Amino acid sequence: MIPSDGRTAGIDAFTRAWARVVSGHTVLRHSPDEVYSLLERFARRFAEVLLAEPFSAGPGRRLGADLVAAGIATPELLGRTTTLIGRRFLEDIRVRRPDGRARLDELLGAVATGYTGALVDQSVGAQEALRRAELRRTGLARHCRIERTHDLPNQRAALLRRLAEALAGDPHGRLGLCLINLDRFRTVNESLGYRAGDQVLRTVAHRLERLAQRAGHFAAHLDNDTFVLLVGDTGGIDEVTKAAEEALAAIAHTFPINNGYTLPIRASIGVVERAAAGTDPAALLGAAEQALGWAKRERRGQWMVHDTERAAVETARHALSAEMPDALTRGEFVVEYQPLTDLATGRVVGVEALVRWRHPVHGLLMPGRFIDLAEHTGLIVPLGEDVLRRACAQAAAWRDARPDHPVFVSVNVAEAQLRRPGLPALVQAVLDETGLPVSLLQLEVTENVLLDPEGLGTLDDLARMGVRISLDDFGTGNCRLAEISNLPAHTIKIAGCFIGFLNSQHAAAGADHTVLAAMIELGRELGLTVTVEGIQTEAQARRLLDLGCDIGQGYHLGRPQPPDEITGLLTARS
Ligand code: C2E
Ligand code: MG
Ligand code: MG
Repeated sequence: MIPSDGRTAGIDAFTRAWARVVSGHTVLRHSPDEVYSLLERFARRFAEVLLAEPFSAGPGRRLGADLVAAGIATPELLGRTTTLIGRRFLEDIRVRRPDGRARLDELLGAVATGYTGALVDQSVGAQEALRRAELRRTGLARHCRIERTHDLPNQRAALLRRLAEALAGDPHGRLGLCLINLDRFRTVNESLGYRAGDQVLRTVAHRLERLAQRAGHFAAHLDNDTFVLLVGDTGGIDEVTKAAEEALAAIAHTFPINNGYTLPIRASIGVVERAAAGTDPAALLGAAEQALGWAKRERRGQWMVHDTERAAVETARHALSAEMPDALTRGEFVVEYQPLTDLATGRVVGVEALVRWRHPVHGLLMPGRFIDLAEHTGLIVPLGEDVLRRACAQAAAWRDARPDHPVFVSVNVAEAQLRRPGLPALVQAVLDETGLPVSLLQLEVTENVLLDPEGLGTLDDLARMGVRISLDDFGTGNCRLAEISNLPAHTIKIAGCFIGFLNSQHAAAGADHTVLAAMIELGRELGLTVTVEGIQTEAQARRLLDLGCDIGQGYHLGRPQPPDEITGLLTARS
């Protein structure tokens, strides 16, 4: 955005004032005209960033770095410049907006950050040539310096070069890497401003540098809030985890920032240690990044060592996850059905639809291998719709074949499906399409739905339509018993883990029995149908009937099977 004419005049006035403030300074080796046009370009860029919609102070960092590159490269010049901007820039370029001052302050903070970073780079850069020569001569491990530039790809590339040097320098040795990332650093920037954030980064850099110097490691600042400790010439993983431990301890002190405040700062670390032979720098850094990701998710504030087996499992899972959308279009997901049996009569009254993936390479995959991936990527929504459609069409076909023996179909619904608006409309459309009466559809949800008001609302709508709602895996979730009565549920499905004891001789006594009996009683008191899953023996089925359970599901009563087999079963049993 180019400032309007009035602003152009203002920019001119401001630039003249700026030129006066910096003139005569030895760092600027330009003619007055050159200085004017240089500063005018900067003044225009300031104005553009300040007035941009939406506003972001981010480009201020680049401006600060460019000021240094242009030769306005001493703290004194920066001080004069920011004072002048603060004093008259808004006035000169006629910014009247109420947030002008706040924007300007933020922008100046970012400029200062970019500026100081670039100054550090300059001095580090001057020493870099010397250091490289020395490193080549003596090997890496005994030297260290915190490096800092703001250009992420270059910084990563520089580290990879450094790693390659280290690996080549001692091909028979081993080395380790600690990738260190500050925890919740963004909140420091957001709540205390970039200047405080920068102060924290400098302090961390300083502490890691001291640690590296003392221990003979190499330290580097990889990007924003990520640092690296390279431990050369290791005898094993313990030396690297010790370095990680020391780095955590060094960082964990509180951080003095402006105005006497102190901040507690923590970090998480990904650790990797390998023989130099056959190790690729990018793979080493990649492994450290992966371990850092695990630490961030599972052990924030601590280190985690890279584990190649776990990495292989994750890679395979990612690959599977990436294949799922195409698999869905190719129709590789199929549905099996498991009988739900009336325990008193032995009749099949319903079936549960259970999805499987007929994978071209891995064979038939069970939901345990892919449902959570589908939930993670959101594919569970179209997959769930596909299962619902197939299950309703199949149940309608069974109903048409045997109108005298109606069998309901019970379809699992994931939380993500419930959270999306439009599930009741989708269900209605599928019922219309397939001709299945609503009374023959049951949806299974887990107790976690109680934690989500939107999901509960959707369930109410579905129940009002006449869809049966079943509370799946009852007893294993986060359900508060008091809330069950508010649920529009028709059935509880008690999880199989509650009935294992029923095979033992002491089945009639003990705490397990009390818990199971109480759950069944609760269901009955609330007027719900009680279903129990995982029934594997005749003894369990009999005991459950005695305890008041209505419907049973389990390998003893029928395994999940393709629809044709269910068709045969329905014919045989009726
Ligand atoms: P679930 O809904 O609790 O389904 C019952 C699971 O118990 C099924 O596992 C079934 O094969 C298994 N099972 C049945 N009888 C026995 C038994 O006697 N002993 C033992 N040990 N297990 C038994 P499956 O098919 O592997 O499905 C696992 C879970 O995957 C299901 O648990 C459900 O949570 C989920 N799932 C399956 N299909 C779908 C689907 O279409 N959509 C969604 N969102 N989830 C699904
Ligand atoms: Mg289920
Ligand atoms: Mg279940």
